[in-house]
Order: sequence, then C-alpha cells, then structure tokens
Amino acid sequence: MITALMTFLSSGVPLSCQRGIPEVQDGVYNYKDLLEAEPSIRILIAKDTRYAHLAIHGYYQIRDDRNTIVDEGPGLQKSMISVKDDCITVGNRHYKNTEIRISSSQHGDIEVNDVRYPGEIRILRQPNNKFLVIEEVGLENYLVSVVGNEMPHSWNEEALRAQAITARTYAMYKRKVKEDNIYHLDMLDLAYRGITGKTSRISRIVQETRGIVMAYNWNLFPAYFHSTCGGHTEDCYYVFGEDSIPPLKGVVCNYCEDSKYFNWSVDIDKSEIEKKLKDANMYVPDIHMINGVDPGEGIHCSKVEIVSSSGSREMHANSFRLLIGPYYLYSTAFYSRDNGKSITFSGKGLGHGVGLCQYGAQGMAKNSFTCISILKYYYPQVELIRVY
Ligand SMILES: [Zn+2]
Repeated sequence: MITALMTFLSSGVPLSCQRGIPEVQDGVYNYKDLLEAEPSIRILIAKDTRYAHLAIHGYYQIRDDRNTIVDEGPGLQKSMISVKDDCITVGNRHYKNTEIRISSSQHGDIEVNDVRYPGEIRILRQPNNKFLVIEEVGLENYLVSVVGNEMPHSWNEEALRAQAITARTYAMYKRKVKEDNIYHLDMLDLAYRGITGKTSRISRIVQETRGIVMAYNWNLFPAYFHSTCGGHTEDCYYVFGEDSIPPLKGVVCNYCEDSKYFNWSVDIDKSEIEKKLKDANMYVPDIHMINGVDPGEGIHCSKVEIVSSSGSREMHANSFRLLIGPYYLYSTAFYSRDNGKSITFSGKGLGHGVGLCQYGAQGMAKNSFTCISILKYYYPQVELIRVY
C-alpha cells in the first residue's frame, strides 16, 4: 500500500500544518484553495492498437507534442487512425509526429471507436506500427460519466453523492501515484464511457460534491468500491494482498440484501475452467475441484486451490475470479461442491468486496443516512476534505 509514502497533495508537508486550522462545513474540512483549479486526468482509451476510428462533430484543432497547431478544420467524418513508420495517419492526412493532440471547441465532439469524449484526445505512436489513445479530461467531467455508469440513475441522491466522492478519491489517488506515467487510469478501471451516462441529475449531484475527497491520516488512499458485499466487506489484504489500513479493513454490512447478488449459486463445467486457465497460459488438465482458501472476515477467500490429477496448486483468488469472468463467478466469497463434470459455487456478493458496497450505500441512503455517514461507515477513520 502506497498511502504511507504519500502526503496528501504536496510532498513532505503535512496538510494539517500547511494552512492552520481548516474551516469545517457540514462535516467537510474546507481546504478549497489547496488546489488552484480542478485537476485533469489522463485516461487510457486504447492500448497497443493498430486501428481506431475517429470522427469529429465540430471545429477542431490538431497540435503536435510541442503544442504547435499542425491541422484544423470544421469537422471530420469517420476516419481510420493508423500508424506507419514515422507517420500517424488519420483518413487521408499524414502527420509526421510522435504524438498528435486533438481538441474541439465543444465537449463531446470527438468520437473514438463510437464513443464521444469530453476531453482532449492524444494519439501516441508506439513501436511496431501500434499506437495508444489517451484522453486528457477534467476530473469532474470524468466523474459524471463514472457515477452515471456505476450506479442506476434513479438511486437515492445520498448514495450517488457517496459514489462521486469515492470515485474522486480513487481517481485522485491514482493520479498522484502515477503522475509520471503516460496515463493515470485505464478506462476500464472505473466504468467510464465518455459522455455516455451524463444526465442533468447526475451532473448536479457530482457538482454538489465538487472537489471533495476522503483522506486517511491526511493521505489519499485507493478508495475501492464494488457492487454487493453479501453481508461483510472485505479486508484489502485478502483480496489485493495490500497492507490493511483501517478504511479498507472491512465492516459488517446489513444494507445490501436487496441486491440480486446477495446470495447466488452457479454451476461451472470443469472443462470450461480448464479452457479459461489454458487461455491464460496455465495448463491444468483434469480438474477435480476448486476450493476457496484463506478467507477474510467477509468470507472472500484470498486464494483458490486447484485440485487436478497432477496434484494441487494455488492461485490468487481475485485473479481466478477475473479469469473465469467477473459476471460469471460473481465474487470470491464462495463455497464449492463437486458435481462430477461441473463444480457448483455458492456464494455471496458481486465484485471484489473491498471498500464501499454500492447496494449497501443505497440501502443506507434509503434508511436516511447522509452521504458522509455512509462513507464514514464503509471507510472507518476517514475525513472528508474539499481540495478545490
Ligand atoms: Zn453490502
């Protein structure tokens, strides 16, 4: 866990000493002037790709990596992006640059692979005629899409606010620890879909939490969240192998029974498990059984034991779940039963189980808890701080 290395925003200076006693408003420390403006964040949209489609629906400019305009126009019909030798090609235009940056006059005018994005799109040449597509976007715009795609729009406002602050904390943590990387987050890390999912209600709710993050010991931390815990959230140590800190140690959750994934049972053919392991270069023929091993208090196991005719081996449980399919083996909080050709997994919850339980947040909100009490429940010992 990297939290211990990180002072909050300016390295080496404890936040609490920096500006004297902060003002507290409605349970939130007001450090509004800590950052001068809303930060931007770099999101990976496509990696090591050879082709992508680009369309621009309004006036645009293309700049090189030194910020010099190399092209501009009133719009661009759907065109193929590719890279050959020392050139980035868009439709019939060729740019002899290592990178091009495309910006438009209006949010959402730039479309890559049929998704519209609000930020600046960067195409970066890579070896072997491949390229990366990265979007640089204001954090608040990013969060509107994430909240709109992570939770049903009809959910209680306090749950949606809690989701916004959680996602902001996670994104700012990643931005800080990956500040020297080409990108901070993969678009799959949180459910980001460009401008898709943006509604006026979600925009307003995100705006009402603008600049607010959670901090533990005045440090940002990876504020993990998941769909449904099944009764107890899990210690991050058991799921990610990261050092336990109080906000990520797991709590009892009595609020997510409404989720259809609270209890579940799936039957998976052993041959299918063998195939998925093989696809990941793990050759384990003739599987007899899969057992969950070393569970935490939330009964999410940290490892699975794969028993086959060649013996027994262990594998990281969350990696096993992702490999089988996160919407197939819903969580690692399961018991298994041998059914001959298949294994029945009976379990609880959906997702990795660490941090905020989304269904639990909605359950608490329906029981009149505020967003701050929801967050302080799922992440014990955190403070809320407004940083811009
Ligand atoms: Zn829960």
